[in-house]
This record gives sequence, C-alpha cells and structure tokens, in this order.
Amino acid sequence: MKEIVIAFDCDGTLLKSTDQRTIAPADHIRTLLITLSQFKNTKIVVWSGGGPAYARRVAEALGVADYVDDYAGKNPQRPVGITETARRGVFLPDIEPDIAIDDIEDCDLGTLNLIVG
Ligand SMILES: [Mg+2]
Repeated sequence: MKEIVIAFDCDGTLLKSTDQRTIAPADHIRTLLITLSQFKNTKIVVWSGGGPAYARRVAEALGVADYVDDYAGKNPQRPVGITETARRGVFLPDIEPDIAIDDIEDCDLGTLNLIVG
C-alpha cells in the first residue's frame, strides 16, 4: 500500500485569509483535510512558509490537530507574497508531497498540485 502524502497550506488555504493575524477557517478545506485523513494510505501534513511551528498553531486553532500526521516548513528563500510563485527554488520545502493543496496559482511543490478557488 503506497502512502499518499497530502500537504495543506495554511494562509489562504486552510485559513481564508493570508493575514496571519486572522484565524478564519476555510470550512470546506478543513472538512477536506478531515475526510482525507480517514483513508488508510494518506499522510496528512500541514505546512507553511511560516514554518512547522506556525502550521501546528493553525491546525490546533482549527481543531484539526488530531487528523494531522506531521508539520513541515515550505522554507521561503525570500519574502513571498500572494503574487509570488510557489516553485522549488523560491521555496526549499522540508518534504515533497504527492499532493500539495495551496492558494498560489502556480504552486509546483507537490507531484500533483490542487489550487483552491
Ligand atoms: Mg498560502
């Protein structure tokens, strides 16, 4: 059974806003995380350019920490805004997920990349 690593971004993905002072859950993405965690061969990661500790705080604030297997950093190599690219080189992530779910349209951090609407 191949494990599928699914990484959820925080700002603008699990959270509606990219403003880290605002904790407003994107309910459909939160529900998706919980649903995907129920599969036998998924590994759920929450990651952020803000680092693994910030990702953990977001998961705890959203009440989904029990469904998360690990936390990681995307490790931006320079300040990254919503209009920036999300490609390797701009980020040097801790992991390479099978599926990355992100709000940046040209996200290319996973083998497959799902962009939130
Ligand atoms: Mg984001």
